[in-house]
Amino acid sequence: MRSSVILVQGALEDVMLFGEECYKPSETFKCQKCGKMYRYKGNLQAHLKFECGKKPSLQCPHCSYRAKQRSNFKGHIALRHFKPIDL
Ligand SMILES: [Zn+2]
Ligand SMILES: [Zn+2]
Repeated sequence: MRSSVILVQGALEDVMLFGEECYKPSETFKCQKCGKMYRYKGNLQAHLKFECGKKPSLQCPHCSYRAKQRSNFKGHIALRHFKPIDL
């Protein structure tokens, strides 16, 4: 049972972000620090700003999952625990 549209959107966002990192087209934006590849410059910038070289700062209160980006974190909660928490 889906309690809201917002939960579904968060889950989709999580999947899309994950898929982006696996995608290897001819033109990619590569992180100079860790070598991760991104299709869009915006994703690389977000990676540099929130992710690269940083430790996961968001800890799931329900399990051992940790996230660096809030969008991923919300997606995890929606997918795994199906209960949004107040961030
Ligand atoms: Zn990086
Ligand atoms: Zn969790």
